[in-house]
Amino acid sequence: MSGKTSVETVIVVGAGIMGLSLSWALAKRGVKVRLFDQGPIPNPVSSSFDEHRINRHAYGKLNGYARLMPDAFRAWDALWADLGVRHYEETGGIYVLRHEDDWYDNTTRQLAELGVPCKELSATEVADRLPVLNPDGIFRAVEVGGSGLLFPRRILTDLVVHLTLMGVELNAFTPVQSVDPEAGKITTDKGVEEADKVIVAAGAWISRLVPELDGVAVPSRQAVLYLAPPPTLMKSWQSAPVVVVREKEAGLYCLPPRCGTRLKIGDHRFSLTGNPDEDRMATDDDIAPIWAAMQKAYRNVDDYRIIDPKACFYTVTDDETFRLVQPGARGFAISACSGHGFKLAPLIASGVVQAVLEDRPTAEVATWAAGLEEQPLPLF
Ligand SMILES: Cc1cc2nc3c(=O)[nH]c(=O)nc-3n(C[C@H](O)[C@H](O)[C@H](O)COP(=O)(O)OP(=O)(O)OC[C@H]3O[C@@H](n4cnc5c(N)ncnc54)[C@H](O)[C@@H]3O)c2cc1C
Repeated sequence: MSGKTSVETVIVVGAGIMGLSLSWALAKRGVKVRLFDQGPIPNPVSSSFDEHRINRHAYGKLNGYARLMPDAFRAWDALWADLGVRHYEETGGIYVLRHEDDWYDNTTRQLAELGVPCKELSATEVADRLPVLNPDGIFRAVEVGGSGLLFPRRILTDLVVHLTLMGVELNAFTPVQSVDPEAGKITTDKGVEEADKVIVAAGAWISRLVPELDGVAVPSRQAVLYLAPPPTLMKSWQSAPVVVVREKEAGLYCLPPRCGTRLKIGDHRFSLTGNPDEDRMATDDDIAPIWAAMQKAYRNVDDYRIIDPKACFYTVTDDETFRLVQPGARGFAISACSGHGFKLAPLIASGVVQAVLEDRPTAEVATWAAGLEEQPLPLF
């Protein structure tokens, strides 16, 4: 999609990865974009602002998103080409199953269809590759390709620089108080602003501006621990892939220290509680379940030091799919949907822009963004 559009101006609310990706895709089409954030741009309290995020083809039960992942990787490649730098490190991934479920069979089937390498590891291979793991209680382990680390802080910062070059107007410290999706207007403390279209991409705050998403995109407080492992284990961590340990009562994901990032471990279970205005320091109650799960999954956990316990927020939808809604003729809202909103943002943004610029119906793009459409959309 690169044709002319009759839409000349678009207001984007929220400068996380989704708002920045939308601004990028719109500016590529020659649209005049005005981007608003309640805080600095990028904003350290946004879901998007962190040292690393996982990118991967392996998608367990979410077959629709597995199908979208090759295009999601292509969307990142298009961004790297525009930025002139690649903020991605291929690491591969190891999934360790500590209980039996159908995740393994679904994923191997998906990866075979996508042509992504995937192989089962023996106990000796697991011990060799990941001596930091506790070998007891491992039911199955599988090594996958097509996975690695995205580096969000650098991505967001470079996007901000690039968008400035593209002429996008950046309005930091400008909280949007309300949106009129029928009239294409927003209200800030400086007054009312109007554009041909308005898109709200306000992350965990979205339902405050878009009542249609209240109770649909639920803010969820999630804790992550930045850790200093004992010196004797640091070498193993530095060469480790992304590690996901699937347990009946936990889903620990671990991002190794690479390219200027620290070792990070989080629990994928959704808290479905909390207020995104809360501070970002994890409490003892946030930390306890992660620490307990780590004690089962890893060796010598008591020798690790927590050097930065963080709380973050993302939105969760009941089926973990993105929600695109159009509450008025000139207003749209797009919400991510759990722990996969970062990797898919540039791709989903490229589709949303096709609805906003009236290349295709919103309902069609919403179905695609939810991973329910077999046919891909053209990129940009
Ligand atoms: C701990 C954790 C781990 C994760 N791991 C992964 C992962 O490995 N892989 C992956 O793909 N995804 C992951 N995610 C999910 C991913 O980070 C999010 O889905 C994604 O960053 C959401 O981006 P967003 O732009 O929609 O929201 P945000 O990044 O939150 O951006 C929303 C922006 O809107 C602004 N805003 C809100 N209200 C207003 C207002 N009224 N006026 C103006 N501005 C406003 C906010 O200040 C903010 O800057 C993880 C998330 C967390 C928290």
